[in-house]
Amino acid sequence: LDAPEFVFVGEALALDFINTEVVQRRRQRDLLTSRVDVARWWDAARQVHSTVPVVPFARDDGDDDHTSFEVVQHLRTTLRRIFSAVAEQRVISDAALAHLSTILQLSTPALERGGDNQVQVVYQGVATWHEAVVFSLALSGFQLLTEGDLRRIHHCRNTRCILLFYDTTRSATRQWCSLGCMNRARSAQRYQQTKAHAPDD
Ligand SMILES: [Zn+2]
Repeated sequence: LDAPEFVFVGEALALDFINTEVVQRRRQRDLLTSRVDVARWWDAARQVHSTVPVVPFARDDGDDDHTSFEVVQHLRTTLRRIFSAVAEQRVISDAALAHLSTILQLSTPALERGGDNQVQVVYQGVATWHEAVVFSLALSGFQLLTEGDLRRIHHCRNTRCILLFYDTTRSATRQWCSLGCMNRARSAQRYQQTKAHAPDD
């Protein structure tokens, strides 16, 4: 398989993280299969989401550290459970919220005065690179849950698509993750209709 093309259509870091599981050619595909993938995705995600806080870390835990990769995957599962429930207006799992809360305890915000007399938020340093990543991702989920308009969190309307997004349109009428996905859904629908109306021979 080629190196994965990441998608950034979620309008929130936590949702773009969930969206590293995609459906391509009707098959579910995980774009994060290794610590190297996570590092590539994280670099790209920080370009898109420039307000992600900088969380200092003491050491890089290395590409071979499988436990840290599993921690990243576990967080993604938790965030999917939470935000799928939100999108589908189901009850959010207590266990998922408890797991998210645990990761949020990795760091603590503090206030510092910057050179221009502006007060800025700084985060206490964590032990390793992957802790800095999972903390930042959990923080994005926390902010979306507590400050976002939860009615604007949706699944893409294409039933074959598993992407989630935060609708930032003024009219709050976004239905699709992308125009490409909308077009695929509509042509599939036209195909079904054509088949349904075709005479039996
Ligand atoms: Zn879609």
